[in-house]
Amino acid sequence: MSRFLSPTLEALTPYTPGEQPQDQQYIKLNTNESPYMPSPAVVAAVNEAEVEKLRLYSDPACAQLLRTAAAHFGLQPDQIMPGNGSDENLFFALRAFCDERHPLAYADITYGCYGVWCSLLHIPGNVIPLKEDFTLDPADYYGLGQTIVIANPNAPTGIALPREAIEGILQANPDNVVIVDEAYVDFGGESCVPLIDRYDNLLVVQTFSKSRQLAGARLGLAMGNAKLIADLNRVKFGMNPYNINRLTLKAGQAALEDTAYFDRTRAAVVETRNWTKQQLEARGFAVLDSRANFLFASTKRKDGGTLYKKLKENGVLVRHFDAPRIADWLRITIGTPQQMQGLLAALDKILEE
Ligand SMILES: *Cc1c(COP(=O)(O)O)cnc(C)c1O
Repeated sequence: MSRFLSPTLEALTPYTPGEQPQDQQYIKLNTNESPYMPSPAVVAAVNEAEVEKLRLYSDPACAQLLRTAAAHFGLQPDQIMPGNGSDENLFFALRAFCDERHPLAYADITYGCYGVWCSLLHIPGNVIPLKEDFTLDPADYYGLGQTIVIANPNAPTGIALPREAIEGILQANPDNVVIVDEAYVDFGGESCVPLIDRYDNLLVVQTFSKSRQLAGARLGLAMGNAKLIADLNRVKFGMNPYNINRLTLKAGQAALEDTAYFDRTRAAVVETRNWTKQQLEARGFAVLDSRANFLFASTKRKDGGTLYKKLKENGVLVRHFDAPRIADWLRITIGTPQQMQGLLAALDKILEE
């Protein structure tokens, strides 16, 4: 760091993203992207004419995308705000609803960015441990008097809470915002979007990165009561009004409209996930009950760090978190059936050594 860095940032430990290798061809199962191409409708939407329009700023209101998203989710356009990935929407939400004196509650094992953003924004974190089996006890979140964020399904475990459990948390915290991060909901979770008209303290955050093949386009949607969304827009227009680029607005709209492709690809991922889980269990792995596009697995035959390293040597990238409670677990993104066969072949070879 330079001698000019603000002392308030000296203690910040930034998030470590999963590797994005630009050289070797790996079987890439480490950052929960879709193994499938974007919808052909997306490819058609991002055409030469749209590239030429890049000389003009994008629509800061994102009006056309909002109309499409509102129709898709059964909401009003003023109940939605697009963000530059759901990461940006989550960050805006923390900036809007938390500060030095207003903490954020979240699980000990969940998406790592929550803690990083707390540190960046000087928000005290109230870290609530998951149970021994990595499930979340909703009662731990009753009457907290704090903003809450819950990834549902959770990452990196993949475990999902039923909508009723989230509803209980909403009812037990009527004066605080409950953020539900639904990055993986399209692979078998229960969305809380249908609760939005009944709870003015509910903010649902979804992304196009995992189930809509657009991780590289950077697009997410925050959905909630119109007043909550107005608060988020206050932060957005206080920071970066043109946060969604033109091509992404077009790509996102086309992806939302192609519901057939969306349903086909997510069903394929779910089917491959279920098959892969059986295959891993047949090899003696413990595998959590995932409703996401990844599996969280461990084996007594090799520690997590070693297994990660050996898999990489064999051309398979998975995610390993060197963190308390989960150091022996691997998070494995669901790829195509062929990619998963490659993973299993590499595992068989490594476990025989
Ligand atoms: C991937 C992920 C995000 C970030 O998604 P982007 O839209 O790509 O920023 C947010 N939350 C969770 C739990 C995720 O896994």
